[in-house]
Amino acid sequence: MARHTGPVCRLCRREGDKLFLKGTRCLSQKCPVEKRGYIPGQHGPNSKAKRAKTSDYSLQLREKQKVRRLYGLLEAQFRRYFREALKKRGVTGEQLLILLERRLDNVVYRSGYAASRANARQLVCHAHFTVNGHPVDIPSYLVKPGDKIAVRENSRPLTYWKALLEEKDAAGVPQWISPDRSTLSILIQSLPSRDQIEAPIKEQLVVEYYSR
Ligand code: SF4
Repeated sequence: MARHTGPVCRLCRREGDKLFLKGTRCLSQKCPVEKRGYIPGQHGPNSKAKRAKTSDYSLQLREKQKVRRLYGLLEAQFRRYFREALKKRGVTGEQLLILLERRLDNVVYRSGYAASRANARQLVCHAHFTVNGHPVDIPSYLVKPGDKIAVRENSRPLTYWKALLEEKDAAGVPQWISPDRSTLSILIQSLPSRDQIEAPIKEQLVVEYYSR
């Protein structure tokens, strides 16, 4: 399972937006987007990319890169999701976001059981979760309505959960997911709708990028 292993704050700075890839650090004053809000690179604020004219293509490319990086995917994986979304009924951009939201690592993150998507991906890969009673260690597993995700019996005594759940409150959990912190489980109520995916994404630009 390939993934980006370089510095992630540079990704946020490149997109000029906070992608929340580093957990609590993202909410602190130490966030590099707050401190150095220009694109990374040797020439910093004077770099060519900063001065370049914004063409339609560059807007589409940047939006596609932003969404891809937000969900921690490589290009080939992201393109596969787009092809999958094309086959579905409805608005392709929305279908793409719904597919991305249904990933198991995203659900673990959205439920507050991990500080970031990368953290959630690691927890899933280390087989700390079950889906409908079966251990699942595939971060790209797509959940569906009625699925019950739970922390594995052997993993429950870990102090990690207590510390994390105290830190993260349940306020930001979208309605299509119901986490139960007393049993360390998550019930998938329904598929997400576009308005429940609050990330500032212009998915139409992603569709336009791949439709060139
Ligand atoms: Fe992005 Fe978080 Fe790093 Fe800020 S701290 S640049 S939001 S990953």
